[in-house]
Amino acid sequence: MTGNNPFTSAMAQLTKATTILEQRVTSTEIRERLKQKIEQLRQPKRIINVTLPVVMDDGTQQIFQGYRVQFNNARGPYKGGIRYHPNVSLDEVKALSFWMAMKCAVADLPMGGGKGGVIVDPKSLSEKELERLTRAYGKAIADVVGPDKDVPAPDVNTNGVIMGWMLEEFIKSKVHTVHKVKNVTNVKTLQTFNSSQLRATFTGKRIEDGGSEGREEATGLGGLYVLQTILDKLELQSSKVKSSSKSQVQNKQFTVAIQGFGNVGYNIAKFLYESGFRVVAVSDSKGGIYVPDGINPELTLECKKKNGYLAGCYCSGSVCDLKKGKQISNAELLELPVDILVPSALENAITKENASKIKAKVVLEMANGPTTPEADIILYKRRIPVIPDILSNSGGVSVSAFEWEQNLKNEHWSKTKVNEKLKAKMEKQAGSVWDASMTYKTDLRTAAFVVALERILKAMS
Ligand code: GLU
Repeated sequence: MTGNNPFTSAMAQLTKATTILEQRVTSTEIRERLKQKIEQLRQPKRIINVTLPVVMDDGTQQIFQGYRVQFNNARGPYKGGIRYHPNVSLDEVKALSFWMAMKCAVADLPMGGGKGGVIVDPKSLSEKELERLTRAYGKAIADVVGPDKDVPAPDVNTNGVIMGWMLEEFIKSKVHTVHKVKNVTNVKTLQTFNSSQLRATFTGKRIEDGGSEGREEATGLGGLYVLQTILDKLELQSSKVKSSSKSQVQNKQFTVAIQGFGNVGYNIAKFLYESGFRVVAVSDSKGGIYVPDGINPELTLECKKKNGYLAGCYCSGSVCDLKKGKQISNAELLELPVDILVPSALENAITKENASKIKAKVVLEMANGPTTPEADIILYKRRIPVIPDILSNSGGVSVSAFEWEQNLKNEHWSKTKVNEKLKAKMEKQAGSVWDASMTYKTDLRTAAFVVALERILKAMS
Protein backbone atom coordinates (compact mmCIF):
# COMPACT_ATOMS: atom_id res chain seq x y z
CA MET A 1 0.00 0.00 0.00
CA THR A 2 1.40 3.38 -0.96
CA GLY A 3 0.75 6.70 0.71
CA ASN A 4 -1.70 7.83 -2.01
CA ASN A 5 -4.51 9.84 -0.47
CA PRO A 6 -7.79 8.78 -2.17
CA PHE A 7 -9.42 12.19 -1.71
CA THR A 8 -6.47 13.92 -3.38
CA SER A 9 -6.81 11.43 -6.26
CA ALA A 10 -10.55 12.06 -6.50
CA MET A 11 -10.03 15.81 -6.67
CA ALA A 12 -7.35 15.43 -9.37
CA GLN A 13 -9.87 13.44 -11.42
CA LEU A 14 -12.43 16.20 -10.92
CA THR A 15 -9.95 18.87 -12.04
CA LYS A 16 -9.13 16.95 -15.21
CA ALA A 17 -12.79 16.59 -16.21
CA THR A 18 -13.49 20.23 -15.32
CA THR A 19 -10.89 21.37 -17.85
CA ILE A 20 -12.91 19.72 -20.62
CA LEU A 21 -16.14 21.29 -19.39
CA GLU A 22 -14.51 24.74 -19.18
CA GLN A 23 -13.17 24.52 -22.72
CA ARG A 24 -16.69 24.21 -24.03
CA VAL A 25 -17.91 27.39 -22.35
CA THR A 26 -17.44 30.68 -24.22
CA SER A 27 -19.29 33.12 -21.95
CA THR A 28 -17.31 34.50 -18.98
CA GLU A 29 -20.43 34.58 -16.87
CA ILE A 30 -21.27 30.93 -17.47
CA ARG A 31 -17.64 29.98 -16.87
CA GLU A 32 -17.70 31.80 -13.54
CA ARG A 33 -20.90 29.99 -12.48
CA LEU A 34 -19.37 26.68 -13.56
CA LYS A 35 -16.31 27.38 -11.40
CA GLN A 36 -18.51 28.20 -8.41
CA LYS A 37 -20.43 24.95 -8.74
CA ILE A 38 -17.24 22.91 -9.14
CA GLU A 39 -15.89 24.59 -5.98
CA GLN A 40 -18.96 23.26 -4.17
CA LEU A 41 -18.09 19.79 -5.39
CA ARG A 42 -14.67 19.95 -3.74
CA GLN A 43 -16.01 19.42 -0.23
CA PRO A 44 -18.78 17.25 1.18
CA LYS A 45 -21.96 18.99 2.29
CA ARG A 46 -21.82 17.29 5.65
CA ILE A 47 -19.50 15.07 7.68
CA ILE A 48 -20.92 13.07 10.57
CA ASN A 49 -18.36 11.77 13.07
CA VAL A 50 -19.57 9.07 15.40
CA THR A 51 -17.99 7.61 18.54
CA LEU A 52 -19.20 4.11 19.26
CA PRO A 53 -18.68 2.57 22.71
CA VAL A 54 -19.14 -1.21 22.46
CA VAL A 55 -19.21 -3.77 25.29
CA MET A 56 -16.98 -6.64 24.28
CA ASP A 57 -17.73 -10.28 25.13
CA ASP A 58 -15.27 -10.18 28.04
CA GLY A 59 -17.14 -7.25 29.64
CA THR A 60 -14.57 -4.58 28.74
CA GLN A 61 -15.52 -1.56 26.66
CA GLN A 62 -13.92 -0.64 23.35
CA ILE A 63 -14.51 2.66 21.61
CA PHE A 64 -14.73 2.68 17.82
CA GLN A 65 -14.63 5.66 15.47
CA GLY A 66 -16.99 5.91 12.51
CA TYR A 67 -18.10 8.34 9.80
CA ARG A 68 -20.94 9.08 7.46
CA VAL A 69 -20.05 11.57 4.76
CA GLN A 70 -22.88 13.18 2.77
CA PHE A 71 -21.18 14.56 -0.28
CA ASN A 72 -23.80 15.87 -2.66
CA ASN A 73 -27.58 15.49 -2.97
CA ALA A 74 -28.36 17.69 -5.98
CA ARG A 75 -29.90 14.72 -7.84
CA GLY A 76 -31.60 12.97 -4.90
CA PRO A 77 -30.93 11.47 -1.47
CA TYR A 78 -27.32 10.72 -0.57
CA LYS A 79 -26.54 7.12 -1.51
CA GLY A 80 -23.66 4.79 -0.74
CA GLY A 81 -22.33 1.93 1.28
CA ILE A 82 -20.85 1.54 4.75
CA ARG A 83 -17.43 -0.05 5.04
CA TYR A 84 -15.82 -1.84 7.99
CA HIS A 85 -12.05 -1.86 7.69
CA PRO A 86 -9.03 -1.09 9.88
CA ASN A 87 -7.70 1.39 7.27
CA VAL A 88 -10.88 3.48 7.06
CA SER A 89 -10.03 7.19 7.33
CA LEU A 90 -12.04 10.36 6.89
CA ASP A 91 -10.28 11.15 3.62
CA GLU A 92 -11.06 7.69 2.31
CA VAL A 93 -14.76 8.04 3.17
CA LYS A 94 -14.81 11.53 1.64
CA ALA A 95 -13.33 10.16 -1.60
CA LEU A 96 -15.73 7.21 -1.66
CA SER A 97 -18.74 9.49 -1.07
CA PHE A 98 -17.60 11.80 -3.88
CA TRP A 99 -17.21 8.80 -6.20
CA MET A 100 -20.73 7.68 -5.21
CA ALA A 101 -22.13 11.05 -6.32
CA MET A 102 -20.35 10.63 -9.67
CA LYS A 103 -21.37 6.96 -9.93
CA CYS A 104 -25.06 7.59 -9.29
CA ALA A 105 -25.00 10.35 -11.92
CA VAL A 106 -23.23 8.14 -14.50
CA ALA A 107 -25.82 5.43 -13.82
CA ASP A 108 -28.50 8.13 -14.17
CA LEU A 109 -30.07 7.31 -10.81
CA PRO A 110 -32.14 9.92 -8.94
CA MET A 111 -29.60 9.91 -6.12
CA GLY A 112 -26.60 11.76 -4.78
CA GLY A 113 -23.47 10.46 -3.11
CA GLY A 114 -22.66 9.43 0.45
CA LYS A 115 -20.50 6.86 2.20
CA GLY A 116 -19.92 5.51 5.69
CA GLY A 117 -17.11 3.73 7.41
CA VAL A 118 -16.05 2.33 10.77
CA ILE A 119 -12.42 1.84 11.72
CA VAL A 120 -12.46 -1.81 12.73
CA ASP A 121 -11.15 -5.19 11.69
CA PRO A 122 -14.45 -7.09 11.69
CA LYS A 123 -12.60 -10.41 11.55
CA SER A 124 -11.32 -9.72 15.09
CA LEU A 125 -14.89 -9.42 16.46
CA SER A 126 -17.29 -12.15 17.55
CA GLU A 127 -20.74 -12.24 15.90
CA LYS A 128 -22.30 -10.61 18.99
CA GLU A 129 -19.65 -7.87 19.11
CA LEU A 130 -20.21 -7.20 15.41
CA GLU A 131 -23.94 -6.89 16.05
CA ARG A 132 -23.44 -4.52 19.02
CA LEU A 133 -21.04 -2.34 17.00
CA THR A 134 -23.45 -2.29 14.06
CA ARG A 135 -26.42 -1.37 16.24
CA ALA A 136 -24.39 1.42 17.84
CA TYR A 137 -23.51 2.81 14.40
CA GLY A 138 -27.12 2.41 13.16
CA LYS A 139 -28.39 4.33 16.20
CA ALA A 140 -25.75 7.03 15.80
CA ILE A 141 -26.72 7.79 12.17
CA ALA A 142 -30.50 7.27 12.59
CA ASP A 143 -31.25 11.00 12.55
CA VAL A 144 -29.40 11.72 9.32
CA VAL A 145 -30.66 8.82 7.17
CA GLY A 146 -34.07 8.06 5.65
CA PRO A 147 -35.58 7.16 2.27
CA ASP A 148 -35.58 10.80 1.15
CA LYS A 149 -32.41 11.84 3.03
CA ASP A 150 -29.62 9.30 2.84
CA VAL A 151 -29.83 5.63 1.84
CA PRO A 152 -26.88 3.48 3.00
CA ALA A 153 -25.97 0.00 1.69
CA PRO A 154 -23.27 -2.65 2.11
CA ASP A 155 -19.65 -2.09 1.08
CA VAL A 156 -16.36 -3.80 2.01
CA ASN A 157 -16.96 -6.27 4.91
CA THR A 158 -20.65 -5.43 5.37
CA ASN A 159 -23.70 -7.32 4.10
CA GLY A 160 -27.47 -7.79 4.25
CA VAL A 161 -27.48 -9.06 7.83
CA ILE A 162 -25.61 -5.92 8.94
CA MET A 163 -28.07 -3.73 6.99
CA GLY A 164 -30.93 -5.55 8.81
CA TRP A 165 -29.48 -4.66 12.25
CA MET A 166 -29.04 -1.02 11.22
CA LEU A 167 -32.57 -0.87 9.83
CA GLU A 168 -33.96 -2.19 13.13
CA GLU A 169 -32.13 0.54 15.03
CA PHE A 170 -33.43 3.15 12.59
CA ILE A 171 -37.02 1.94 12.96
CA LYS A 172 -36.69 1.84 16.77
CA SER A 173 -35.48 5.43 16.76
CA LYS A 174 -38.46 6.51 14.64
CA VAL A 175 -40.90 4.77 17.02
CA HIS A 176 -39.17 6.51 19.91
CA THR A 177 -39.35 9.90 18.20
CA VAL A 178 -43.07 9.56 17.40
CA HIS A 179 -43.68 8.45 20.96
CA LYS A 180 -41.93 11.56 22.30
CA VAL A 181 -43.51 13.98 19.84
CA LYS A 182 -47.07 12.78 20.24
CA ASN A 183 -46.63 12.07 23.93
CA VAL A 184 -48.65 8.91 23.46
CA THR A 185 -48.64 6.25 26.11
CA ASN A 186 -49.58 3.48 23.75
CA VAL A 187 -46.47 3.31 21.61
CA LYS A 188 -47.18 2.14 18.10
CA THR A 189 -45.77 -1.28 17.57
CA LEU A 190 -42.61 -1.89 15.60
CA GLN A 191 -44.84 -3.73 13.16
CA THR A 192 -46.69 -0.52 12.25
CA PHE A 193 -43.43 1.22 11.60
CA ASN A 194 -41.86 -1.67 9.76
CA SER A 195 -43.52 -0.31 6.68
CA SER A 196 -42.10 -0.77 3.25
CA GLN A 197 -41.20 2.91 3.01
CA LEU A 198 -39.03 2.96 6.12
CA ARG A 199 -37.27 -0.13 4.82
CA ALA A 200 -36.24 1.95 1.79
CA THR A 201 -33.76 3.68 4.14
CA PHE A 202 -31.26 0.84 3.66
CA THR A 203 -30.59 -1.20 0.53
CA GLY A 204 -28.66 -4.41 0.00
CA LYS A 205 -30.95 -6.00 2.60
CA ARG A 206 -31.79 -9.69 2.82
CA ILE A 207 -34.87 -10.60 0.75
CA GLU A 208 -36.86 -11.28 3.95
CA ASP A 209 -36.14 -7.74 5.17
CA GLY A 210 -37.34 -6.19 1.89
CA GLY A 211 -34.21 -6.68 -0.22
CA SER A 212 -34.25 -6.94 -4.00
CA GLU A 213 -33.76 -10.05 -6.07
CA GLY A 214 -30.39 -9.89 -7.78
CA ARG A 215 -28.85 -7.23 -5.50
CA GLU A 216 -26.12 -9.46 -4.07
CA GLU A 217 -24.60 -10.29 -7.45
CA ALA A 218 -25.56 -7.00 -9.16
CA THR A 219 -22.12 -5.36 -9.01
CA GLY A 220 -20.50 -8.37 -10.69
CA LEU A 221 -23.24 -8.79 -13.30
CA GLY A 222 -23.24 -5.07 -14.08
CA GLY A 223 -19.46 -5.27 -14.54
CA LEU A 224 -19.88 -8.05 -17.11
CA TYR A 225 -22.40 -5.99 -19.12
CA VAL A 226 -20.14 -2.94 -19.06
CA LEU A 227 -17.10 -4.98 -20.10
CA GLN A 228 -18.94 -6.64 -22.99
CA THR A 229 -20.21 -3.28 -24.23
CA ILE A 230 -16.77 -1.65 -24.12
CA LEU A 231 -15.03 -4.69 -25.65
CA ASP A 232 -17.48 -4.55 -28.53
CA LYS A 233 -16.65 -0.86 -29.01
CA LEU A 234 -12.90 -1.51 -28.83
CA GLU A 235 -13.23 -4.31 -31.32
CA LEU A 236 -15.12 -2.05 -33.68
CA GLN A 237 -12.55 0.64 -33.23
CA SER A 238 -9.53 -1.56 -33.81
CA SER A 239 -10.96 -3.31 -36.85
CA LYS A 240 -12.33 0.04 -38.09
CA VAL A 241 -15.42 -1.79 -39.28
CA LYS A 242 -18.02 0.69 -40.35
CA SER A 243 -20.66 -1.81 -41.36
CA SER A 244 -24.00 -1.89 -39.55
CA SER A 245 -23.53 -5.47 -38.36
CA LYS A 246 -21.96 -5.41 -34.92
CA SER A 247 -18.90 -7.62 -34.60
CA GLN A 248 -19.41 -9.79 -31.57
CA VAL A 249 -16.39 -10.25 -29.40
CA GLN A 250 -15.31 -13.82 -28.89
CA ASN A 251 -15.21 -14.03 -25.11
CA LYS A 252 -13.23 -17.28 -25.27
CA GLN A 253 -10.19 -15.42 -26.48
CA PHE A 254 -9.83 -13.48 -23.29
CA THR A 255 -7.89 -14.38 -20.17
CA VAL A 256 -8.66 -12.59 -16.91
CA ALA A 257 -6.89 -11.93 -13.59
CA ILE A 258 -9.02 -10.75 -10.67
CA GLN A 259 -7.59 -9.11 -7.57
CA GLY A 260 -10.00 -9.61 -4.64
CA PHE A 261 -12.35 -12.51 -3.98
CA GLY A 262 -15.04 -10.87 -1.83
CA ASN A 263 -18.62 -10.39 -3.01
CA VAL A 264 -17.60 -8.31 -6.04
CA GLY A 265 -14.47 -10.26 -7.04
CA TYR A 266 -16.21 -13.62 -6.73
CA ASN A 267 -19.30 -12.60 -8.66
CA ILE A 268 -17.46 -10.97 -11.54
CA ALA A 269 -15.26 -14.11 -11.71
CA LYS A 270 -18.35 -16.31 -11.83
CA PHE A 271 -20.13 -14.24 -14.52
CA LEU A 272 -17.00 -13.96 -16.67
CA TYR A 273 -16.40 -17.72 -16.37
CA GLU A 274 -20.02 -18.47 -17.31
CA SER A 275 -19.71 -16.15 -20.31
CA GLY A 276 -16.70 -18.04 -21.67
CA PHE A 277 -13.82 -15.90 -20.39
CA ARG A 278 -10.86 -17.81 -18.93
CA VAL A 279 -10.25 -16.69 -15.34
CA VAL A 280 -6.60 -17.61 -14.82
CA ALA A 281 -5.88 -15.85 -11.51
CA VAL A 282 -7.71 -14.70 -8.39
CA SER A 283 -6.47 -13.42 -5.04
CA ASP A 284 -7.63 -12.39 -1.60
CA SER A 285 -5.88 -10.24 1.01
CA LYS A 286 -3.51 -13.12 1.84
CA GLY A 287 -2.37 -13.85 -1.73
CA GLY A 288 -3.50 -15.48 -4.93
CA ILE A 289 -3.42 -18.42 -7.31
CA TYR A 290 -2.40 -18.53 -10.96
CA VAL A 291 -3.80 -21.37 -13.06
CA PRO A 292 -3.06 -20.87 -16.79
CA ASP A 293 -5.74 -23.45 -17.74
CA GLY A 294 -8.34 -21.39 -15.89
CA ILE A 295 -10.21 -21.86 -12.63
CA ASN A 296 -13.82 -22.59 -11.81
CA PRO A 297 -14.81 -19.73 -9.46
CA GLU A 298 -17.60 -21.64 -7.71
CA LEU A 299 -15.34 -24.60 -6.84
CA THR A 300 -12.58 -22.20 -5.86
CA LEU A 301 -14.90 -20.40 -3.44
CA GLU A 302 -16.01 -23.71 -1.91
CA CYS A 303 -12.36 -24.68 -1.54
CA LYS A 304 -11.49 -21.30 0.02
CA LYS A 305 -14.33 -21.66 2.52
CA LYS A 306 -13.11 -25.12 3.45
CA ASN A 307 -9.44 -24.14 3.80
CA GLY A 308 -9.97 -20.60 5.06
CA TYR A 309 -7.66 -19.22 2.34
CA LEU A 310 -7.16 -19.38 -1.42
CA ALA A 311 -3.66 -20.79 -1.65
CA GLY A 312 -3.92 -24.45 -2.53
CA CYS A 313 -7.24 -24.09 -4.40
CA TYR A 314 -6.44 -24.75 -8.05
CA CYS A 315 -9.88 -25.61 -9.32
CA SER A 316 -10.48 -26.03 -13.03
CA GLY A 317 -13.12 -28.21 -14.67
CA SER A 318 -14.80 -29.99 -11.80
CA VAL A 319 -11.78 -30.78 -9.68
CA CYS A 320 -9.36 -28.88 -7.50
CA ASP A 321 -5.95 -30.15 -8.56
CA LEU A 322 -3.05 -29.04 -6.44
CA LYS A 323 -0.55 -29.55 -9.27
CA LYS A 324 -2.23 -27.33 -11.85
CA GLY A 325 -1.32 -23.88 -10.65
CA LYS A 326 0.94 -21.87 -8.44
CA GLN A 327 0.66 -19.43 -5.60
CA ILE A 328 1.31 -15.79 -6.39
CA SER A 329 1.29 -12.53 -4.46
CA ASN A 330 -1.21 -9.75 -5.07
CA ALA A 331 1.56 -7.69 -6.67
CA GLU A 332 2.37 -10.55 -9.07
CA LEU A 333 -1.28 -10.98 -10.00
CA LEU A 334 -1.51 -7.37 -11.15
CA GLU A 335 1.41 -7.86 -13.53
CA LEU A 336 0.29 -11.14 -15.14
CA PRO A 337 0.24 -11.41 -18.96
CA VAL A 338 -3.57 -11.49 -19.28
CA ASP A 339 -6.07 -9.77 -21.55
CA ILE A 340 -8.21 -8.29 -18.81
CA LEU A 341 -7.14 -7.20 -15.33
CA VAL A 342 -9.91 -6.72 -12.79
CA PRO A 343 -8.89 -4.95 -9.56
CA SER A 344 -11.76 -5.79 -7.18
CA ALA A 345 -10.26 -5.11 -3.77
CA LEU A 346 -9.37 -1.66 -2.40
CA GLU A 347 -7.93 1.69 -3.51
CA ASN A 348 -4.42 2.20 -4.88
CA ALA A 349 -3.82 -1.22 -6.47
CA ILE A 350 -2.38 0.31 -9.65
CA THR A 351 0.02 3.15 -8.90
CA LYS A 352 2.92 4.91 -10.63
CA GLU A 353 5.16 2.16 -9.21
CA ASN A 354 3.54 -0.73 -11.09
CA ALA A 355 1.57 0.92 -13.95
CA SER A 356 4.42 0.49 -16.41
CA LYS A 357 4.56 -3.25 -15.58
CA ILE A 358 0.87 -3.98 -16.21
CA LYS A 359 0.62 -6.42 -19.12
CA ALA A 360 -3.18 -6.56 -19.44
CA LYS A 361 -4.81 -5.09 -22.53
CA VAL A 362 -7.82 -3.71 -20.65
CA VAL A 363 -8.39 -2.83 -16.97
CA LEU A 364 -11.91 -3.26 -15.56
CA GLU A 365 -12.12 -1.43 -12.22
CA MET A 366 -14.53 -3.28 -9.96
CA ALA A 367 -13.07 -1.81 -6.73
CA ASN A 368 -13.52 1.88 -5.94
CA GLY A 369 -10.46 3.97 -6.70
CA PRO A 370 -8.00 1.16 -7.57
CA THR A 371 -5.97 3.30 -10.03
CA THR A 372 -4.18 6.50 -9.02
CA PRO A 373 -4.17 9.55 -11.36
CA GLU A 374 -0.42 9.07 -12.03
CA ALA A 375 -1.05 5.46 -13.01
CA ASP A 376 -3.93 6.58 -15.23
CA ILE A 377 -1.56 8.78 -17.21
CA ILE A 378 0.95 5.94 -17.66
CA LEU A 379 -1.74 3.46 -18.75
CA TYR A 380 -3.27 5.98 -21.17
CA LYS A 381 0.10 6.57 -22.79
CA ARG A 382 0.54 2.82 -23.07
CA ARG A 383 -2.91 2.61 -24.73
CA ILE A 384 -4.35 0.37 -22.03
CA PRO A 385 -8.00 1.39 -21.62
CA VAL A 386 -9.17 1.63 -18.00
CA ILE A 387 -12.93 1.09 -17.67
CA PRO A 388 -13.53 3.31 -14.64
CA ASP A 389 -15.02 2.26 -11.31
CA ILE A 390 -17.87 4.78 -11.44
CA LEU A 391 -19.10 2.98 -14.56
CA SER A 392 -17.90 -0.63 -14.11
CA ASN A 393 -19.13 -1.19 -10.57
CA SER A 394 -22.30 0.88 -10.79
CA GLY A 395 -24.46 -2.25 -11.14
CA GLY A 396 -24.57 -2.60 -7.35
CA VAL A 397 -25.96 0.83 -6.64
CA SER A 398 -28.27 0.54 -9.65
CA VAL A 399 -29.99 -2.49 -8.16
CA SER A 400 -29.90 -0.69 -4.78
CA ALA A 401 -31.91 2.06 -6.45
CA PHE A 402 -34.30 -0.59 -7.81
CA GLU A 403 -34.63 -1.95 -4.25
CA TRP A 404 -35.38 1.55 -2.91
CA GLU A 405 -38.00 2.02 -5.62
CA GLN A 406 -39.59 -1.36 -4.89
CA ASN A 407 -39.78 -0.53 -1.15
CA LEU A 408 -41.27 2.90 -1.83
CA LYS A 409 -43.91 1.38 -4.11
CA ASN A 410 -44.36 -1.68 -1.90
CA GLU A 411 -43.50 -4.00 -4.80
CA HIS A 412 -41.26 -7.01 -5.24
CA TRP A 413 -39.83 -7.51 -8.72
CA SER A 414 -38.73 -10.83 -10.21
CA LYS A 415 -35.03 -11.51 -10.74
CA THR A 416 -35.65 -11.55 -14.48
CA LYS A 417 -37.13 -8.07 -14.37
CA VAL A 418 -34.28 -6.75 -12.17
CA ASN A 419 -31.58 -8.24 -14.40
CA GLU A 420 -33.23 -6.98 -17.60
CA LYS A 421 -33.39 -3.47 -16.19
CA LEU A 422 -29.78 -3.75 -15.02
CA LYS A 423 -28.56 -4.91 -18.42
CA ALA A 424 -30.35 -2.12 -20.26
CA LYS A 425 -29.00 0.48 -17.84
CA MET A 426 -25.39 -0.73 -17.93
CA GLU A 427 -25.28 -1.00 -21.72
CA LYS A 428 -26.81 2.44 -22.15
CA GLN A 429 -24.47 4.15 -19.69
CA ALA A 430 -21.38 2.34 -21.01
CA GLY A 431 -22.40 3.56 -24.49
CA SER A 432 -22.76 7.16 -23.25
CA VAL A 433 -19.33 7.07 -21.60
CA TRP A 434 -17.76 5.59 -24.71
CA ASP A 435 -19.38 8.24 -26.92
CA ALA A 436 -18.16 11.01 -24.58
CA SER A 437 -14.61 9.61 -24.75
CA MET A 438 -14.80 9.80 -28.56
CA THR A 439 -16.34 13.28 -28.58
CA TYR A 440 -13.80 14.78 -26.17
CA LYS A 441 -10.91 12.57 -27.29
CA THR A 442 -10.18 11.56 -23.75
CA ASP A 443 -9.83 8.48 -21.55
CA LEU A 444 -12.91 6.63 -20.30
CA ARG A 445 -12.60 7.90 -16.70
CA THR A 446 -12.53 11.56 -17.71
CA ALA A 447 -15.40 10.86 -20.12
CA ALA A 448 -17.43 9.24 -17.32
CA PHE A 449 -16.74 12.27 -15.10
CA VAL A 450 -17.87 14.63 -17.84
CA VAL A 451 -21.12 12.67 -18.29
CA ALA A 452 -21.69 12.66 -14.50
CA LEU A 453 -20.77 16.30 -13.99
CA GLU A 454 -23.07 17.51 -16.76
CA ARG A 455 -25.96 15.79 -14.99
CA ILE A 456 -25.01 17.00 -11.50
CA LEU A 457 -24.30 20.59 -12.58
CA LYS A 458 -27.69 20.75 -14.27
CA ALA A 459 -29.39 19.63 -11.06
CA MET A 460 -27.42 22.22 -9.05
CA SER A 461 -28.74 25.21 -10.99
N1 GLU B 1 -20.92 -0.05 -1.92
C1 GLU B 1 -21.36 -0.13 -3.26
C2 GLU B 1 -20.61 0.86 -4.13
O1 GLU B 1 -19.54 1.30 -3.80
C3 GLU B 1 -22.87 -0.03 -3.40
C4 GLU B 1 -23.49 1.23 -2.88
C5 GLU B 1 -25.00 1.21 -2.80
O2 GLU B 1 -25.61 0.24 -3.20
O3 GLU B 1 -25.53 2.21 -2.34
O4 GLU B 1 -21.02 1.17 -5.21
